[in-house]
Amino acid sequence: MSAQRSGAWGRLARNRPAAVGLAVVGLAAALALLAPVLPLAGPTLTAYGDRLAAPFGDAGWLGTDHLGRDLLARLVWGVRVSLAVGLAATALAAVVGSTIGLVAGYAGRTVDLVVMRGIDMLMAFPYLLLALAIVAALGPGLFNALIAIAIANVPFFARAVRGTVVGLKDRDFITAARLAGLSHTRILVVELLPNVLPVIVISLTTTLGWMILETAGLSYLGLGAQPPTADLGSMLADANKVVTVAPHVALVPGLAILVLVIAINLVGDGVRDLLDPRLGGVSAGRPGPRTAVAATGPRPPPDPPTPSRAEPAPMIAVDGLTTSFALGDRRVPAVRAVSFAVPPGGALGIVGESGSGKSVTALSILGLVASPPGRIEAGTIRFRPATDRSTDGAEPAAEDLLRVPLARLQAVRGNRIAMVFQDPDAALDPLIRVGDQIAAVVRRHRGGGWTAARQRAAALLAEVGLPDPARRARAWPHQLSGGQRQRVAIAMALANDPDLVIADEPTTALDVTTQARVLDRLDRLRRSRGAALILISHDLAVIAGVCDRIAVMYAGEIVEQGPAAAVIAAPHHPYTRRLIACVPVLGRPDRVLDTIPGGPPSPEARPPGCAFAPRCPDAEDACRSASIGPGPAGPDHTVRCRRWRALGDPPAVAGRSPARTAAAASPLSTPASPL
Ligand code: ADP
Ligand code: MG
Repeated sequence: MSAQRSGAWGRLARNRPAAVGLAVVGLAAALALLAPVLPLAGPTLTAYGDRLAAPFGDAGWLGTDHLGRDLLARLVWGVRVSLAVGLAATALAAVVGSTIGLVAGYAGRTVDLVVMRGIDMLMAFPYLLLALAIVAALGPGLFNALIAIAIANVPFFARAVRGTVVGLKDRDFITAARLAGLSHTRILVVELLPNVLPVIVISLTTTLGWMILETAGLSYLGLGAQPPTADLGSMLADANKVVTVAPHVALVPGLAILVLVIAINLVGDGVRDLLDPRLGGVSAGRPGPRTAVAATGPRPPPDPPTPSRAEPAPMIAVDGLTTSFALGDRRVPAVRAVSFAVPPGGALGIVGESGSGKSVTALSILGLVASPPGRIEAGTIRFRPATDRSTDGAEPAAEDLLRVPLARLQAVRGNRIAMVFQDPDAALDPLIRVGDQIAAVVRRHRGGGWTAARQRAAALLAEVGLPDPARRARAWPHQLSGGQRQRVAIAMALANDPDLVIADEPTTALDVTTQARVLDRLDRLRRSRGAALILISHDLAVIAGVCDRIAVMYAGEIVEQGPAAAVIAAPHHPYTRRLIACVPVLGRPDRVLDTIPGGPPSPEARPPGCAFAPRCPDAEDACRSASIGPGPAGPDHTVRCRRWRALGDPPAVAGRSPARTAAAASPLSTPASPL
């Protein structure tokens, strides 16, 4: 917890403007707190002999006012009063407003209607006018001014919180709490309040500056602090009559208000950025349209010579891809030196535990990793679209997707390279009919009218096996089941006959029969059109059923890569062997599943040397010290393991370890996988 907090402080401090604001507010708060013990003159002590003394003279650093009172002392005490009143009014408005918002949003119906219309009536008045009216009713004085300002600001909190609560209260976790018999009070306090806290904190930090300004305004009008109490507003009012002869009397409180309010707002903005977890503490700026590429990364080597006719040039060749995320002031690689190539018509399966970097690899290809916090540190991604191939058979030059102009990348995305995301709910817009969403993708890259695009959408839906496609095209996403939505997402990916489809766990949410149909559809696409496929899954059985090559990822690295049959029949890396041993076999309940103890390291806590060493039964000291590059394990088959690099020959498959026996007996090695 304390580490987390120091992390938050550190991130706030790294945001320059917020750090400056924080320093100013901290200084002001320290002065205000220490005012009684500082060696200052009495703030109300008059000295008629020293009236309107200029700053930096004998009568004090900041001079004196029209009654000869020391301006420095009055400033410090004035900041103390203004900060105290501003903070108290903000806290009061936050507590009352948030409570009203929580209750109104949660209760709904009549309560919501009555309460929120009352709040609307408060908001209908210009709020300084409202505060003036309240002070007029209660009588002048600092405390009454505080109450007035708090009331005038209650609507801001009430509306913000109520809006958030309305969005949350029908979510499953609230329904579950209700079904579990939790009281309304507990649901409000334990379930809803923590979820709206960021909204409250952001409103707090952004209104505090206003509150101080309003307090000063009321005092300036003589309705807040009463003489002789010093407060920034009353000091300004005092300076009114003498501003032409002694401008410093007005400048001192005026500048103090300006600096204080700006500083508080800077801190408020910093806190808001801090509370947005997607920015990873990197403030200022939303993610750009493509992933940033480190300028310092090695320049791409020249295009390799086109291989012989017998072996087609790869559709996509990823070389040394390293993608990192900002974590505080460090950059932590989530994907390291990943290289693979997929020929036209080829299918590469990327398999690995959750968190191994599969999605980041896929997103990097299309520049879809959010930047900040993500950045591609090194590597090239060469793509050779099939449609550009000229008829005489000459191969077009590959383009490096990391370095093509943004417009070119956008022309490739969703067109030549399509992506099927893991979660179709997040990929589909809930407010647009699914047919129209597919039609929009068609029109984006092919132009043409809506009618033709809608027809194509219906044809695509039929192609992915949705029954009654014309009617389904008019459905909204929520009217379809999870499997149907996933097929819509696949139809969208196929909309422009892509050359490469990247499918990131496309079947994880599906039942086995739907999964088989979806996989079959992807498989047919590549067989019929010569498209390349990158299929990502944590399920080796899925990969084995479709792909001709397998890349096994662990802790951001490809630890083993080779032809599917070879990797499954003769897995070299201990992690691959364990993955295969973890696959249950239908009809073999007696087989002991060899699960892997422990979990993969998080990117920031990656051990030196082989990342799998802590979980590896065969690890030796040397595995833990030096990192291991890919070495040959067979024809077209590489492995990052010191043992096989040292031995140099493939391991015997049958025999000794249960993992290997399982691999040999595994149905994965035959086309009839347990799908
Ligand atoms: P998976 O193999 O399950 O698809 P991912 O590629 O999504 O895994 O993630 C790989 C690693 O990158 C994870 O350890 C994750 O913590 C990290 N990561 C992914 N996205 C972000 C992000 N936006 N900020 C920081 N770290 C991230
Ligand atoms: Mg993933």
